[in-house]
Amino acid sequence: MFDRLDQLESQARALELSAAQRQHLTGEVVAYVDRFYRESPGRPMYQYTDDMGAGILDAPISPDPIDIGEALRLLHRHVDSPGLNPTAPGHLAYIPAGGLYPAALGDYLSAVTNLYSGIFFVAPGAVRLENMLLRWMGEMVGYPADAAGNLTTGGSIANLTSVVTARDAHGLKPKDYARSVVYLSGERHHSIDKALRIAGFTEVVMRLIDMDAAYHMRPDALAAQIDADRQAGLNPWLVVANAGATNTGAVDPLTEIGQIAHDRGLWFHVDGAYGAFFALCEPGRERLRGIERSDSVIMDPHKSLFLPWGSGAVLIKDRRTMLASHHYSPSYLQDVEGGEELSPADLSPELTRSFRGLRVWLPLKLFGTRPFAAALEEKMLLARYFRARMAEADGFEVGPEPDLSVVLWRYVPARGDADAFNAQLVEAVKRDGRVFLSSTRIDGVFWIRLAVLAYHTHKDTIDLAIDVICEQAAALERA
Ligand SMILES: *Cc1c(COP(=O)(O)O)cnc(C)c1O
Repeated sequence: MFDRLDQLESQARALELSAAQRQHLTGEVVAYVDRFYRESPGRPMYQYTDDMGAGILDAPISPDPIDIGEALRLLHRHVDSPGLNPTAPGHLAYIPAGGLYPAALGDYLSAVTNLYSGIFFVAPGAVRLENMLLRWMGEMVGYPADAAGNLTTGGSIANLTSVVTARDAHGLKPKDYARSVVYLSGERHHSIDKALRIAGFTEVVMRLIDMDAAYHMRPDALAAQIDADRQAGLNPWLVVANAGATNTGAVDPLTEIGQIAHDRGLWFHVDGAYGAFFALCEPGRERLRGIERSDSVIMDPHKSLFLPWGSGAVLIKDRRTMLASHHYSPSYLQDVEGGEELSPADLSPELTRSFRGLRVWLPLKLFGTRPFAAALEEKMLLARYFRARMAEADGFEVGPEPDLSVVLWRYVPARGDADAFNAQLVEAVKRDGRVFLSSTRIDGVFWIRLAVLAYHTHKDTIDLAIDVICEQAAALERA
């Protein structure tokens, strides 16, 4: 037995690095990162490679090690090259990605120290840090200091946490679902539908409330529908409003909707995954007025705080409801109950999780909040600037004034099918490679979107986008 143990130990010790080995690995990775930052601006926004990443499959997981140089070569060739260049300023599609460098360092630090941030007793400093971030976000949206919240991996999980909390707060049981009613905008994010389904509401009544011409939910239509449903013996339960719809950027009239929900006893949820952090700047705060009336709100640091993917947040105004839906006391954790701060494990479906607060905290501390507020106000202005320029350009039609930083526009060709022309235009801009745009369909109409949210998208990029769009549209008109 001892021989075997010796043998196994000598193999297992490969997992333990010396300081010199650690430095070697770190040095190689840092060099790779420098190269990534050097090369990224020159890369096409969408890169086609010969096999679009399939080559990674030729290096399967195996008992034998490879060195860091070879691993990074595999990554560069097969993983980091094909597809969208997400950290470039020319990313103006979907909701653009961030990628603030200090957040990567936060991930690095949290993976090294590997604190167990789910439970206060185990890592009190980590839980305090996360709860401080959540209180800061809560203050931003006008929530009381004793609201509860959780840092999630993204907005979808945050929406799910909200739906489950709203369900339990209203005491809904499966026998109630088929007569319970959810009020939604036609422009809600599909993660709300998904959350409802996962939470068991496959038979819930869903009402899509009429929108005005700028894609805002109409409060009068909402109130009328709720009253009609109650008269019909249904149970109006949940209103979901957008604080920045993904498709249109529209912020619903939160003050009026909040009043209606409050007067009629509905749970009011605000989906601010894209837009809620605009509350950091004055014009954004103005737009988001009424958000404080919600019972729950979600906001994604990986969108409007410019972080790399992996950060969402959910806030619930009445902490008791959030605890009631998520708290358990397993016997094997009997030593770790309680403490001065709420523990993330008691407020979310997760138990073990990464210490993900650090990736949010480090950039906020190193930069301070001022540049974030400035960048967000800048993006709002850039969206208005783009819309104004496109409204003047020959042949283009624009959607409503943007509430935040998404602009809808399309080209109206002299002849032929406009939808087909605009689909070709998106493709032509992608092939050109200097900027990246995406399209959508609203009420059957094909629109192209320009979404400004990358932290380093400035006026020069918007001017470039206008040049590329006009060039490509003219070329298509001639074709
Ligand atoms: C992105 C988005 C979501 C989903 O968030 P993920 O972080 O992608 O899971 C939900 N709602 C809105 C309005 C969004 O823009």
